[in-house]
Amino acid sequence: MTESPRKLPEHAPLSLFSSAYGELQINGIPLSRVVARAGQTPLYAYDRSALDARIAELRAALPRAVKLHYAMKANPMPALVAYMAARVDGLDVASGRELKVALDAGADPHEMSFAGPGKSEAELIQAIAAGVLLNVESFREARLLADLSARHGWPARVAVRINPDFELKSSGMKMGGGPKQFGVDAEQVPELLREIGRLGLAFEGFHLYAGSQNLKAESICEAQLKSYDLALRLAADAPAPVRTLNLGGGFGIPYFPGEQPLDLAPVGDNLSHLVERAARELPEAGLVVELGRYLVGEAGIYICRVVDRKVSRGHTYLVVDGGLHHHLAASGNFGQVIRKNYPVAIGNRMNAPAGEPVSVVGPLCTPLDLLADRMSLPDAQPGDLVVVFQSGAYGFTASPQGFLSHPEPVELLV
Ligand SMILES: *Cc1c(COP(=O)(O)O)cnc(C)c1O
Repeated sequence: MTESPRKLPEHAPLSLFSSAYGELQINGIPLSRVVARAGQTPLYAYDRSALDARIAELRAALPRAVKLHYAMKANPMPALVAYMAARVDGLDVASGRELKVALDAGADPHEMSFAGPGKSEAELIQAIAAGVLLNVESFREARLLADLSARHGWPARVAVRINPDFELKSSGMKMGGGPKQFGVDAEQVPELLREIGRLGLAFEGFHLYAGSQNLKAESICEAQLKSYDLALRLAADAPAPVRTLNLGGGFGIPYFPGEQPLDLAPVGDNLSHLVERAARELPEAGLVVELGRYLVGEAGIYICRVVDRKVSRGHTYLVVDGGLHHHLAASGNFGQVIRKNYPVAIGNRMNAPAGEPVSVVGPLCTPLDLLADRMSLPDAQPGDLVVVFQSGAYGFTASPQGFLSHPEPVELLV
């Protein structure tokens, strides 16, 4: 029996970047010129027009009534946060330092929320002083907040982060359902709501976050619907009307061969339906979605230079001046179970035909320092520029920069 030739899965097309005369363009500027502007390789470059395009897509697909928040941990570069703050409806921070960057960026504290388990007393004071919404993640945190609020005389605005009794199916990362360190179990929320009432905290609503990196519209819609229904049930025990209902996000981007972009249209339809229900069932509530990588991930690329080209027992290695220490996720060591290649190209040879499979490795003394494993790339030589796409989120700040003590990359907003 003969098998029909099977086509290998490919990376989804990268629609946000173009090339001219064989060279990748970043917001209309040739790659070599962007690199010269940076003054060094390696670097991260974030493309403003790609950020605009993504926000426009979301605005077109989601109902107007749904607020679009940027979850800053995906990329907290101050210039990028300022760019986003002027274009989205709110920012979600997860530490005192993110809060500082968000406030410096000019974001409206009233449209900001602060989530995360184990917020320190200093962070809680920062948050109440700034007047942002605190997503309460434990009973202790609620009591401490009431105490700090009374001591300082500033009201604490609170929402309850619920650990739902369901998961976001087929997610890259599950952050709700079962035992979790995030939020308060749905079963315990009625008791917490009574406690918040007794403490006299200003209750404003609920926050749910079921998971991340999801490419299936159907799963996202299901989680949004279940989140809404759960919040509606729990609202019966709330000490005040629900004014904000943050349904989380989880919108994924295609990183690996065979993955397809998320279809936003059904997600938009589902949210329109929830907006209609909320108008009747929770008339004071505004719905929020909070997105990180979906907003910024595709707009960023990581760029490094080929330093050496070596052949070892028939296999070619391109050794570059960047790697795992700058971009842990592309090396496959940031939560992936099976290592797969990010989309990688030779940015100054975009029109050249693909050659024999090569591996792109960094300068670190560990075999984990691998940016592309046996990938068919155009023939590249020392001096050429390797670019890693889908690198605008969980890159620079999610990587162990100090490991092996090589220089840091530069970050540019182009
Ligand atoms: C990490 C996180 C996000 C952003 O996740 P993405 O996968 O980047 O969209 C949003 N909300 C919360 C609560 C998070 O912890």
